[in-house]
Amino acid sequence: MRQLIAGNWKMNGLLEASAALAGALRRGADGLDCDIVICPPATMLMTVAHVLVGSPVEIGGQDCHAKASGAHTGDVSAAMLRDAGARWVIVGHSERRADHGETSAQVRAKAIAAMAAGLTPIVCVGETEAQRVSGDALSVVGTQLAESLPEGFAGVVAYEPVWAIGTGKTATEDDVRAMHAHIRTCIGAGPRILYGGSVKASNAASLLAVPEVGGALVGGASLVVEDFLAIAKAANRG
Ligand code: PEP
Repeated sequence: MRQLIAGNWKMNGLLEASAALAGALRRGADGLDCDIVICPPATMLMTVAHVLVGSPVEIGGQDCHAKASGAHTGDVSAAMLRDAGARWVIVGHSERRADHGETSAQVRAKAIAAMAAGLTPIVCVGETEAQRVSGDALSVVGTQLAESLPEGFAGVVAYEPVWAIGTGKTATEDDVRAMHAHIRTCIGAGPRILYGGSVKASNAASLLAVPEVGGALVGGASLVVEDFLAIAKAANRG
């Protein structure tokens, strides 16, 4: 299966710089043999979608509400993301689980809402450093998967060890191999399983070569077009 390289821009950038970043990505993405998705902040989706019209680079949201509409001040529905041009949405990112107290049950409801609106959910799971040190990483992730993935899940799972996000630390290839094999056992054949956590141009090739790694979810390095494209080129193995 083609690998998927997804960029999570998080809460960064303003319109002009983001449009320029998307334009540079569009020019550089020609001929890449992987799927590429970028997830800008919600206010930029339409602008970035416009820049990417006719390009293979697709866009996604960084979160969605579980409800289709209603009295949820400040939230964005999956249908709104789709209407703005998104085809994907990240749900359950550890920053949302931590900053907003999102539970796996809520993540599951968001994944259902995303699929109902025609979006492909990218469901994030991952253990904290304390959970890894105590030897609980596999069971923690197994529980998150059981509680976060709905019946008939048609999306992507992103394994993102919390301690590796934005820290410059990455999981060892052995740990990634063991965790991705465990996730495959938990979810069965089908969904791609991304690795995320300080993926950079310098470590992408080795991480993307690990069995069952179906691509990468990239934070910081997705804001630098040369770095993001270098990661995407490392995924060129069809
Ligand atoms: C992320 O936020 O999903 C992520 C993996 O961030 P970074 O690549 O910066 O560690």
